[in-house]
Amino acid sequence: MKMTVECDCGAVQGTVESKHLKGYRAVCLCDDCQAYAHSIGHADMLDANGGTDIIPVMPSHYTFHKGQEKLQCLRLHSKGMYRWYTSCCKSPLGNTMAEQSMPYIGVPVRAFQKNYSNEQIESEFGPVRERMQARFAKGTLPPKAQQKVSLGFMLRVIKFIGFAKLSGSGKPSPFFKVDGNPISEPKVLSKTERDALVGL
Ligand SMILES: [Zn+2]
Ligand SMILES: [Zn+2]
Repeated sequence: MKMTVECDCGAVQGTVESKHLKGYRAVCLCDDCQAYAHSIGHADMLDANGGTDIIPVMPSHYTFHKGQEKLQCLRLHSKGMYRWYTSCCKSPLGNTMAEQSMPYIGVPVRAFQKNYSNEQIESEFGPVRERMQARFAKGTLPPKAQQKVSLGFMLRVIKFIGFAKLSGSGKPSPFFKVDGNPISEPKVLSKTERDALVGL
């Protein structure tokens, strides 16, 4: 099924093919994800523990049909992930690795919530399989949260990457040009800028 992804104001719209994407959904509690939410003014994407609910998507299964030129990229440090959000309303629409050799886009569930109920999202992408990086979490953690990442989930991610590579679903990516460069020059935060956002 093609699921619609949309920014808050509607200027940026795209679709994600949900086939093959069940079973990889995870909540990341790391300090970078928390700092990112604050940096774009969307702490509303964080749960009570500071976690971001993320659905891994295969790059070629994600396309934009409106407002792609409004996508901007932030890195929390020089080696950080590429975190993509819209210039219009600062909606987070996907995180990618800097290299396209890793065919993975982590889409914050928030990007689907404008058009779908949580029940619809769960029926397409499945439930949260892992709560990872709990060493950075706030408050009382739900049971089974992992301090880092469990071996079981790591194997799941390897399966996802393997499938994406074998099926040729890594390219094209909506966030990269054919020459491999990002569609918009990433802005890299200084250490001072990043540190100011951590722990908010
Ligand atoms: Zn917008
Ligand atoms: Zn994270």
